Amino acid sequence: FIEMKNIRKDFGKQTILHNVNMSMEKGEVLSIIGPSGAGKSTLLRCLIHLETIQGGSIMVDGDYLAREKDGAMVYADENQQKKILSKMGMVFQSFNLFPHMTVLDNIMAAPIYVKGMKKEEIQPVAEELLRKVGLLNKKDMYPGSLSGGQKQRVAIARALAMNPDIMLFDEPTSALDPELTGEVLKTIQQLADENMTMAIVTHEMAFAKSVSDRVLFMVDGKVEEEGTSEDVFDHPKNERTRAFLKSIL
Ligand code: ATP
Ligand code: MG
Repeated sequence: FIEMKNIRKDFGKQTILHNVNMSMEKGEVLSIIGPSGAGKSTLLRCLIHLETIQGGSIMVDGDYLAREKDGAMVYADENQQKKILSKMGMVFQSFNLFPHMTVLDNIMAAPIYVKGMKKEEIQPVAEELLRKVGLLNKKDMYPGSLSGGQKQRVAIARALAMNPDIMLFDEPTSALDPELTGEVLKTIQQLADENMTMAIVTHEMAFAKSVSDRVLFMVDGKVEEEGTSEDVFDHPKNERTRAFLKSIL
């Protein structure tokens, strides 16, 4: 479903991603782990075109977002990009909710303003999503009066309201107090149980191990090891993977 091949990402003169390959099948959960500065966030940001790439190709559901042609990067045209990007929803470490809108309006905003949906059409969907993340009773509240875990669950519902085929999470719990982490992980686990395709950057190793089908371990802008959850967590082949897991578990 997702195929990122030989991705090179430069910031100025510095190459941050070196020939990174990442692929995902529909329904698969992939965790991306690795030390700070490894390029995990950058990889996801390239996938949803918040960053441009300088080499390689990105294919989503059979369509190229970017590829190399005659030594130059070629991106899909604007319409094609819209189509491709609408298949992906992303949740960030900081929740980025609109502070002046109620919880319900936060969730309905993009479907209304980006997709042109009618309020009557999206409201029942938004309320159902809120029920799913356990926050229907907060629908008329403003983000400022929610806990961090609640805000993050609203952010997840908001991404889901665009009906994506794949959800990307970049450290969704690292801004949260430990006691609020569980409720967000539970929400992500629920999505996994419903076979949502997901790529999750996380430092929650126990969670990554249990939720993932496959794991990508990155260091210094390279994929050092890749395999099933059992392969990478229980039988790491690479010395750096072993050292990393030892340091973090
Ligand atoms: P963390 O676990 O701390 O979030 P990460 O694996 O997500 O780390 P990235 O944020 O992808 O790492 O950063 C990878 C490298 O790219 C780092 O060396 C970082 O300094 C560099 N980098 C990221 N964004 C930029 C930018 N906008 N300009 C220049 N360098 C950047
Ligand atoms: Mg990061």
